[in-house]
Amino acid sequence: MTLLGAAQIRELAAALDLKPSKSLGQNFVIDSNVCTKIVRIAGVTQNDIALEIGPGLGSLTLALLQNAASVVAVEIDHRLATQLPITVSEHFESPQNLTVINKDALALSELPVQPTVLVANLPYNVSVPVLLHLLEKFPTINSGVVMVQAEVADRLAGKPGTKEYGIPSVKAAWWADVKGAGSVSRSVFWPAPNVDSKLVSFTRRATPGDETLRKKTFAIIDAAFAQRRKMLRSALSSTYGSSAAAELVLQSAGINPTLRGEALEITDFCAIASLAPDNF
Ligand code: SAM
Repeated sequence: MTLLGAAQIRELAAALDLKPSKSLGQNFVIDSNVCTKIVRIAGVTQNDIALEIGPGLGSLTLALLQNAASVVAVEIDHRLATQLPITVSEHFESPQNLTVINKDALALSELPVQPTVLVANLPYNVSVPVLLHLLEKFPTINSGVVMVQAEVADRLAGKPGTKEYGIPSVKAAWWADVKGAGSVSRSVFWPAPNVDSKLVSFTRRATPGDETLRKKTFAIIDAAFAQRRKMLRSALSSTYGSSAAAELVLQSAGINPTLRGEALEITDFCAIASLAPDNF
């Protein structure tokens, strides 16, 4: 079984008369070594049901099928979703355990199988919402590796006190431990994107609370980072009605009101949110 290289990707695209769509983030991987590496970093085994978002022409899908028990691939572009099973059947001698779902990943609320691992070269303009959505909706996903725009990778893996730390870092930290997993050259894509790419890996961990607490926590995170240069007592003043009221809540939660949101861990945001009323 050979994986897809530059020539096969161009052939497939020509046969489909496919002009890669910028708005759908269609930059296809033309270097099969990259796909093999992603699957290896993700640690995919024959015990895994892999979820892939945006399989495109199938570069990563073929590498996943070589290693996972089964793959469920969610692709928004109808032409690509229709072609994928054909490409897969042409590359393997035996039938493969692949399910293709032609849908927007952000609208995904159930799957025919319970995925254990997420492996994807995500569409860059929606990578953070897609990742957070999947972590929320599919608790059986234990771990994963995603390729995203380099700056987004840095934000997802950002730690408190750094300039990269922000809404994606804290919200992702609610669900998982997130780490940078290396850079990927622009030259491995067709067409080459005008941004750099990086891999991030994540491992799910126990959430710090239930869904009610998560919603309150995420609302506080949004407010704290909407004005990230401000001290928390003023960044949260409209949330609590005044900066004096915000200061009282922060003190009760054991948080210094003069800190900025970028200094707080996810557990600090939870401590603030746990004091919020039910109708918050
Ligand atoms: N996995 C392929 C590869 O590595 O060559 C393609 C990756 S390309 C960066 C992103 C893919 O996501 C495209 O195939 C695009 O059509 C698809 N896509 C874009 N938005 C999507 C969405 N909201 N839900 C599902 N797929 C989406």
